[in-house]
Amino acid sequence: MKEETITGSRCVHCLNVTETSELDHVFPKSWYPDTTPGNAQRWTVPSCPRCNREFGQLEKDLLVRLALCIDPQSDAASGLASRALRSMGIDVEGLSEEERLHREGLRKKIHFELMPKADLAGKPGAIPGLGPSGEQKASFAIPVPWASLSMVAEKIARGCEYKIGSRFVKPPYGLHTFIRKSEMTFPEAMKADVKVISFGPGCRVRRIFASEDPNVVRYWITIWNTLHFRVAIDQEIYLQESEANYSRPEGLDPLETPSMRIRPYLRNYRD
Ligand SMILES: [Zn+2]
Repeated sequence: MKEETITGSRCVHCLNVTETSELDHVFPKSWYPDTTPGNAQRWTVPSCPRCNREFGQLEKDLLVRLALCIDPQSDAASGLASRALRSMGIDVEGLSEEERLHREGLRKKIHFELMPKADLAGKPGAIPGLGPSGEQKASFAIPVPWASLSMVAEKIARGCEYKIGSRFVKPPYGLHTFIRKSEMTFPEAMKADVKVISFGPGCRVRRIFASEDPNVVRYWITIWNTLHFRVAIDQEIYLQESEANYSRPEGLDPLETPSMRIRPYLRNYRD
């Protein structure tokens, strides 16, 4: 009988080989709006249990913050605001005592972190796209950790690279995320080279690669028609050199809460 060797699969996020591989959604599972058709793209990629769990918590925490700052009328974000309220125990009945306390804890935490809008006048850090829509006026603001936002954008890019080319983004290549004020528009001449990946109305991804090196890739990711990211996959040395050309996100120092502490990834890729 042929002996079978068990080869664990590699986690797309931390690049470590894991014996117990799980499936993680490329576009966070809880971020799909209610308007998503049944046949929309719901790609998943192999993930170690630790990354899957930590991304799950990070995405849940981020969703509550972001859903408070997006237009609940928008088709691209349909149902997310009420999902965020329910996760804080608002408008939901029949919960177990444990779950009720858990949600109440989250509600208190978010309430504690709210800042009067007036205190922020003239300060940097407002995220393009977020905030009250139209004539609405907000009296409070909520901190959104940039590190978490950029990790989700990076995760989407890593997931798409894996699905499109079975690629793990590893040295000498690295990733760098920027936030844009608006959606990228491509000149007509470039459009044929742009690959479009749609996850339904909630997330639209455009990808382009360099003809001289197909491992050099640019992603433009639009979430809920609201958040616009650009993720560059390039030689790390190039990313470091070009860093100075891009303005870094500015903002306020976040409160020291566990959700704000983002664990830096230790990637030690072994072929
Ligand atoms: Zn992992």
